[in-house]
Amino acid sequence: MTSDTNQKVKAAHLQRNAYLYIRQSTLRQVFENSESTKRQYALRQKAVALGWPEDRIIVIDTDLGQSGASAADREGFQRLVTEVSLGRAGIVLGLEVSRLARNSTDWHRLLEICAFTEALILDEDGIYDPAHFNDRLLLGLKGTMSEAELHVLRARLQGGILNKARRGELVIRPPIGLIYNSEARLVLDPDKQVQVALRLLFDTFRRTGSAMATVRTFRRQNLLFPRRVHTGPQKGDLVWGVLGHSQVLRILHNPRYAGAFAYGRSHTRKTVDGGCEIIHVPKEEWETLIPGAHAGYVSWEDYEQNQRQLHESAQAMGSDRRKSPAREGPALLQGLILCGRCGERMTVRYHRREGHLWPEYMCQRDGIEHAKPRCQQIPGAGIDRAISELLVDAVSPVALEVAFSVQQELQCRIEDADRLRQKQVERAQYEADLARRRYMRVDPDNRLVADSLEAEWNSKLRTLSETQQERERQREQDRKVLSEPQRAAILALATNFPALWRDPNTPDRERKRMIRLLLEDITLLRGDQITLHIRFKGGAAKTLTLPLPLNSWQQRQTSLDVVKEIDQLLDHHTYPQIAAILNEHGIRSGEGKAFTSRIVARIQRSYALIYDRLRKAGMLTLKEMAALLGICPQQVKIWDRHGLIRGHAYNDKNDCLYEDPGENPPRKAQGIKLSQRSVNRVVSQRIEEVQCEA
Ligand SMILES: [Zn+2]
Repeated sequence: MTSDTNQKVKAAHLQRNAYLYIRQSTLRQVFENSESTKRQYALRQKAVALGWPEDRIIVIDTDLGQSGASAADREGFQRLVTEVSLGRAGIVLGLEVSRLARNSTDWHRLLEICAFTEALILDEDGIYDPAHFNDRLLLGLKGTMSEAELHVLRARLQGGILNKARRGELVIRPPIGLIYNSEARLVLDPDKQVQVALRLLFDTFRRTGSAMATVRTFRRQNLLFPRRVHTGPQKGDLVWGVLGHSQVLRILHNPRYAGAFAYGRSHTRKTVDGGCEIIHVPKEEWETLIPGAHAGYVSWEDYEQNQRQLHESAQAMGSDRRKSPAREGPALLQGLILCGRCGERMTVRYHRREGHLWPEYMCQRDGIEHAKPRCQQIPGAGIDRAISELLVDAVSPVALEVAFSVQQELQCRIEDADRLRQKQVERAQYEADLARRRYMRVDPDNRLVADSLEAEWNSKLRTLSETQQERERQREQDRKVLSEPQRAAILALATNFPALWRDPNTPDRERKRMIRLLLEDITLLRGDQITLHIRFKGGAAKTLTLPLPLNSWQQRQTSLDVVKEIDQLLDHHTYPQIAAILNEHGIRSGEGKAFTSRIVARIQRSYALIYDRLRKAGMLTLKEMAALLGICPQQVKIWDRHGLIRGHAYNDKNDCLYEDPGENPPRKAQGIKLSQRSVNRVVSQRIEEVQCEA
């Protein structure tokens, strides 16, 4: 160390702490590269030589085993930066300082902070003062070199992988059913059971054309599917389990089953919040694709055919399903509904009816994965309507709440003050009560004492009433203070929102966005009625119940009042007459059409109006009559035709109910012609007016 370096260390530096930062990227390095760790700890002696007392040298080694690529989850590095920025550091020590941070941004930030707080930096090569331009340049260079080194390392590694991949020689963990043999060639798994399972899967898909149907087939036949364990103590073991939908899709999409070597089908990307997301790449952009590279279960043509099939099915199923940003399509709550039965997110399906799209919310994820029936499905129109109404009604309280949450602290303080005042009121009340008791207890003859106690009681009562009034006044004022500045904003929101909401020009997508601003999610449960638990943003919740929506045939049903009306009219009118009367009164059928005699007849028939009336009048059915007379049903009809008994038609097919023949029923009489017997009969008077049909 030259005298120059010693000159850099000033008394001011020595008054502050020295920080020794120690790091090894991976745990393996921590064990294998203990030499480097020793060197890092040896830097401590340098600090002592420069004049720092032992107890002022602070070692930060919490990052042992952490990668240096980013500071985000390196607690130790962050602590170092904090200490430096608080001006506590006189010097920062590190082996090859550039190793302090492998990310240039982190490194430059540290340099800048060191320059600001006049902290020195020391590594094995020397001592630097980041406040000096030359030193900072050198340090910056070291940081850049270090990052470049990391980059070159990575590139060399990546390049090696890519080269191998381009030749199709890269060893990638094979999917189930394929295995590397002793010559490092990919072959079919020699386990015949595994092969059979895979072949069955591909055959079933070829036959049914649907991944869902494939799962269902396996499930129905109680067939298990193999899976290889990749981690844990059972690593490498084969386990048999239930086949899942996503598993089928993975297998069908995997080109390796067609004997093709593929590399670069997906890549990962870091997200802003430190996570990772997997991005699937279209086939044209894969790094490498070598068909026929090894053995497979299907041909390349079959593979491509399967891809087309899957793509078509995916289109047919629609994409409007997952928790997703607002899309086109009228289902307001798309992506916001949770199933009240199993907790999965429900999806949307649209039905086209009369030129409109009708949404239906359904819970089917588990059903699809395991080929089970749907968990629940509920027509969406009624739910959407209820939620819109709720929002239009509730948007002012919601807005209020948003405003309140901003001012929550203020609110808290006001509440605290009010509690204090409440305590004061209670105290005054207590004292007044005490004074009253004292006054009551005193001997009335002792005038002097009694007078003074009465005066005290009065004074306490006055205090009580004053405290109460003060509290009321303050509360009133607080209310004013809170509501005044917000009233305008709330009013504006509350008035603008419904107008915007109901405006037919507002696109569905915008309406959905508004819902997403206001609602967290909705839990839907279908029972005897539909229960909606609505969670607003900010924690407020509300529960709505809706009646189950009517089936489409129920929706088109003629109202019961009209049916009753028809029932009464049937006594004295024909079908055309009834239709005319109903139309005259402006009554419409359930489908909204004008009545015709055909419609009246259909209603009469479906509600069995005449039948009921005849039965009530004690008439017998064909079977009952046959049993009563001891003849076959066919004979009953013949007797009716010849007037031995009297039948009444109850529908347009001339099916009849029969009058009870009474005390003296006709009997079988061999040898007498029916036409002769009918002489004595009264001519059957069918109720012509009701059987007449248009
Ligand atoms: Zn469910």
